[in-house]
Amino acid sequence: MATMFNYFGKKDRLKKNVHDLNWIDLSDFIFESGNYAMSHSVEMIAEVKRRANGNPQKAYESLLEVCDEKIDEFESIENRHCCCKRGCSYCCYQAIYLSQFEWKMLLYLINRMTRNERKAIKIKAEANLEKIKSKNIPIKLTPFMDETANNKLYLKQNIPCPLLGEDGACLVYRRRPLACHSFRNYGISSECEGKIPQNSYTFDEYHPAVRLPIIMEFSNTNDMLNMNLLSYLLAENL
Ligand code: SF4
Ligand code: SF4
Repeated sequence: MATMFNYFGKKDRLKKNVHDLNWIDLSDFIFESGNYAMSHSVEMIAEVKRRANGNPQKAYESLLEVCDEKIDEFESIENRHCCCKRGCSYCCYQAIYLSQFEWKMLLYLINRMTRNERKAIKIKAEANLEKIKSKNIPIKLTPFMDETANNKLYLKQNIPCPLLGEDGACLVYRRRPLACHSFRNYGISSECEGKIPQNSYTFDEYHPAVRLPIIMEFSNTNDMLNMNLLSYLLAENL
């Protein structure tokens, strides 16, 4: 019995640092988050609709709120602490693809910014798009794409997200895209520094699947499978 407790104790300690995890631990975590999402999906969808109260703008915000709350709840059950916070931006050099639903909401937010802010975003997005096109990085995420290989190629280009502000923090942090919400570091933020551009790992393992059922409810599957790259959308539409 004592041996068994020692075994689980050791495993739990290891779980606190995501960079030390092996794939079995990580897939356990992702699997459990999927189960948790499935068993709570009906209540989550109802709660998003209740908070949105028929307002499409509010629907996105409510979706993010409800997802965040459930992820917090799940992480607390799993004894994991996410150290991510606004201003920590090592993960903002990745390929971020958006569904139409998210894009409309982001555009709504950006259109409320000042003319200078919008202009600065557009200039950065256009510069990014040139680099992206020169490396043949796909503008659209398609069902058979190797996302990990694509993200590795993207990371090598060292392309900062156009929505990073002058202070190095995300301009839409509270309402950032769901892909950005998905990157969860359960260790310490300095672990991300340097490791992301060096491609020593990807963020696949960070994704708790808690939000999936409600994203599917509000974005149709086709939309999710045909997402567009953020820099492309900003360069073309601002
Ligand atoms: S994933 Fe890493 S870089 Fe991104 S916010 Fe979290 S700790 Fe910071
Ligand atoms: S939208 Fe915000 S959080 Fe997401 S990559 Fe861009 S700056 Fe980072």
